[in-house]
Formats: sequence, C-alpha cells, structure tokens
Amino acid sequence: YKEVPKGFPIPGKTYDYDASQTIDLEKAPLNGGVLFKVLVVSVDPYMRRKMQEPGTDFYLGLYNVGEPLNGWAVSKVLRSENPAMKPGDIVYGLFPFQEYVISHPDPTMRVLENKEKLPLYKYVGICGMPGITAHHGWMEYAHPYLKKGDVVFVTAASGAVGSIIVQLAKAEGCKVIASAGSEEKVEFVRSLGADVVFNYKTVSTREVLKKEGPVNVYWDNVGGESLDAALEFAAQKAHFVICGMISSYNTEEPYNVKNLQQLVWREITFHGFLFLSLQEKYTEDFYKTFPPRVASGELKYKDDVVHGLENAGKALLDVLSGKNFGKCSVVVADE
Ligand code: NDP
Repeated sequence: YKEVPKGFPIPGKTYDYDASQTIDLEKAPLNGGVLFKVLVVSVDPYMRRKMQEPGTDFYLGLYNVGEPLNGWAVSKVLRSENPAMKPGDIVYGLFPFQEYVISHPDPTMRVLENKEKLPLYKYVGICGMPGITAHHGWMEYAHPYLKKGDVVFVTAASGAVGSIIVQLAKAEGCKVIASAGSEEKVEFVRSLGADVVFNYKTVSTREVLKKEGPVNVYWDNVGGESLDAALEFAAQKAHFVICGMISSYNTEEPYNVKNLQQLVWREITFHGFLFLSLQEKYTEDFYKTFPPRVASGELKYKDDVVHGLENAGKALLDVLSGKNFGKCSVVVADE
C-alpha cells in the first residue's frame, strides 16, 4: 500500500518483491506464535474506507502506507508454538495480504471445521464475513419486523451480501424487489427467486418502487439515489437496514439525501449496523447452519474467484467499480 488514493484506488503496475522480507519456513523463530500459509484473501468494499489520510476516524482503523493491506482470509497452520492451533489447522481471521505470516492467534481467528468440505474461498464469502453480515443483520433488524407478503427492497443484489438477503427474504415469504448493475447480474438475481429485478443503470428505481412498493424493509448496500427512492416509497413504519453506502466510498463529496423528511411522515426506523457488534449473539448459529445450507444447494451463491496475490489490487478496483460479479476472493496458494 503505497499512498492514500484520491477517488478510485488504482493498483501499481508492478508487484514488489522485497527480498529482506523472506522467512525460512523451517527455522524462523515463532516466539510462542504460529506460522501461517495464507491460502485465500477476501476483497471487500470496506477496504476503501481504510485508505484515508492518517487521523481520519474509521472503526476498523486505517491501512498504514508502506505496509501490506490486510483483510479477512483463510490460512493454514504450518508450525505452531501456541496450544490453540496445530499444524494443518485451517484458520479464518484477519491476515495481512502476504504469502506467509508469523503472528499470535487473536480474537478474529477461528479454526474451521469444514465438515462439508466446501472450497476454502467459500469461507471468506457466503460462509465468512459477507454471509455473517447478511445473516446477523437480517436476524436482528429485518426478521423481527416482517410479516408474510411484506415488500423487501435490496440493492447490490447480485453481490456478496445482497444475494443472500434476496434468499433470506424469499424464505420468509416476502415480495422481493432487487436492483443490480447489469443485465447479466439481473438474470442471476432473478434465478435466486427475486420477484422484481431491474438494472438501476437503465431503469428508474423511483418508477419501479412507485409501481411495486411501498417498501416495508429496505436493505441498503449502496446509499445515494437508491436510498432516496426507498425513502420516497417507504411504507408506514418501514424498517431500513443500513448495511453499506458503496456509492459514496470513492467520491470526494458526500451524497445529500433529499427525502429525509420521510423519516417523520412515514415513521421510518433506520438500523445502521456493523456485523462485529452482532457476532456474539449470532455467530455460533451461523456456523452451524450456513455451511450445510450451502453444501446442500439450499443457499445459492456466486463466487468471483481471482488467482494470484498480485491481482488483489485490480480485484479491489473491480469490486469498487462494480466489475465483480459475485463475491470476490483471491486464491493465494493451494493447501
Ligand atoms: P458486492 O459484492 O455487492 O460488490 C459491490 C457491488 O456494489 C458492486 O458489484 C456493484 O454492483 C455495487 N456498486 C458499486 N458502486 C456502486 C454505485 N456507485 N452505486 C450502486 N451500486 C454500486 O459487495 P458486498 O456485498 O461485499 O458489500 C455490499 C455492501 O455491504 C457494501 O456497501 C459494504 O460496505 C457493506 N458491508 C457492510 C458490513 C457491515 O457490517 N455493515 C459488512 C460487509 C459489507 P452493481 O454492478 O450491481 O452496481
């Protein structure tokens, strides 16, 4: 990570290899820690928020210029001096974007059971942070308020979080309106069971919601004009689950929401949330239920798998500009 980007982060042309950073895998001192081989890293929209000028406040902290990016990842334990992990364990957690890491187990890390023998990239996608976000946020802020037949609107609906929300909403008997940014994505979201799917780049969100609403629950992944349209066509006492606002992550100026008055007239509740705050309440249930539902095919998911750590920068730019199709992960090495 070489400098704080302005607008979209543009990856460097070369992949720097720093010989002074190599380690002897057999002999490197672990000092009571663990030697990990990084297998898969996750590329997610929030990473852009960690690329800010020092001093800017962000709940996950900022990336330091001159250091590797880090993020959710799956790694294999090669050597361990810590009783919590043994060689061969497959571990999910926050890791730097590099091939090998020596560190101490921390509270973000979890040894995966993977009884279903899913491909490991699933554990940074539907069985990792995006799945956790969808599951926990849905259980806490949508499920308790819904009645059968209620209208749920989901944006970025082909993506890592949105595609799960479509399926959770359909499983509750809701009418699902969903938007995505290309015809191919629209087709995919339709195949997940959404009732009304449209390309927000070619069809007016306002017109769709005017015809198909009013909206009882809005799952917001993008903010901006979609949020404004959802406010305009919200049902009385609607619930808005504010998961993300990707449309403003790369803009210098924030978007000014025009229809905020609707919060009063329609008695709308906004639930801004971070999955981390819901971990304790829902994570054990998530790991019990999601991997089997994925393995059985009950939950469908599209993975956008990139190979080679040197392609992680471009992968992030693709996610931020909507070129990804499905959950983006980067396979760094085979087991
Ligand atoms: P996705 O896999 O959905 O990828 C991002 C997608 O956002 C793109 O593919 C693109 O889809 C869409 N997008 C990009 N730019 C814009 C834009 N200007 N306007 C509208 N849509 C845009 O990402 P995730 O599922 O990982 O993340 C979805 C949201 O959830 C993000 O806002 C993220 O920050 C948030 N999030 C929040 C968490 C929490 O704890 N609250 C945790 C994890 C994620 P398209 O082509 O359809 O436009």
